[in-house]
Amino acid sequence: MSAFSRNPLGVFRTEGVSLDYGDFFPRLYNLCCSIGLSRSNQSLGAAFCPDQDQGRATLMLTKHFGVFPVELGNIDGTLNFRDAMNWVARSNDIVLLQTSHVLRNSAVPPSSGVRGLQVRSTEQLTVCGTMSKVLAWYQREYQNALGHVRFVQAQGKHLVEIDTVLLEKNREDGLCLNLNRLVEKESNGAFQVDFESDPKVTFHANAALPDKLFNGQSSQVCKLLYPEWFSFNTSEPKVEAALQCAEANLRDQMAYIVSAPDPLFAAAEINIQKEFDANTQRIKTSSDAKGKRLVYLVGISVETPAQGDTDFSETGFIPWQAFVQDGGGECKVLNQAALIHKLKEASPLNPDEIDLDVVLRQLESDEEGPGFADD
Ligand SMILES: [Zn+2]
Repeated sequence: MSAFSRNPLGVFRTEGVSLDYGDFFPRLYNLCCSIGLSRSNQSLGAAFCPDQDQGRATLMLTKHFGVFPVELGNIDGTLNFRDAMNWVARSNDIVLLQTSHVLRNSAVPPSSGVRGLQVRSTEQLTVCGTMSKVLAWYQREYQNALGHVRFVQAQGKHLVEIDTVLLEKNREDGLCLNLNRLVEKESNGAFQVDFESDPKVTFHANAALPDKLFNGQSSQVCKLLYPEWFSFNTSEPKVEAALQCAEANLRDQMAYIVSAPDPLFAAAEINIQKEFDANTQRIKTSSDAKGKRLVYLVGISVETPAQGDTDFSETGFIPWQAFVQDGGGECKVLNQAALIHKLKEASPLNPDEIDLDVVLRQLESDEEGPGFADD
């Protein structure tokens, strides 16, 4: 099992770099101070996936930053940039935290790991209600297509059987096979058909397809379509309006996502990377952010369901990237390795953390003004 994810947008470390929130938040606070943000006067905004258990995160962020985080996320977990910039305009020292999210599927043994192989093809390693809605139409199309492609070995020939219903769909809204990758061509460029009868067409397999697809049985049911073998034709969004920003982030990588061993985790990676790239460019040109000391940090929250007698889920944070702007207008992007190095350097002890019990007692005593008079 690799500790790295090689997704279409880059190579990222996904194993061995996760920090528990209790460790991450004080390090983040100290990192921001070391970059030049003022101590004890940082404004904190957060965009979490609405599907994530945010109770522990909110309490711990408040404890370490001394302020309640301002919620700046949309329903689909993307950043509400307009609200974010309105909020940025009111402060000089800004910390903006955005996370994609997955919840470990408690039915899958932990030893499987986030990026491990699936135990059964129908069992998802991680789940996320928000992203599941965004992926639903694309995953249905993909599962349907698997039932219409078969790899056949007959009389020494490698053949690909494709049901005509899927070939017809090439002209419609839906999954579109890339026959150039699957089928051998004649010298005139036409696809080599071995046999054609309703409801399927049997093609000569592209010589570049791996032998293992055809070994063992006379007809191999297709268990996986590689992302280079297909794409999605979509004439309109496949989700409700509130989820369309996330869908737009993922759309051009949907083939990679739905065929990944862990589609929800793959979606979390692509979504946060797209968000980071777009929002970093927008911050750089925003008049509201000009001249401000600002840290925009993104990552993936991996939640483990609450167990035993604890009310809170455990959450590990995988740092992804950060954008840093100092008051003089100097900007830089910390790639994942540099960000992890900086977080490791930062102290896990926060001398400025507040005692939430004291604050709550203070609030309660402030509210104990004149109440109902006793009879
Ligand atoms: Zn989620």
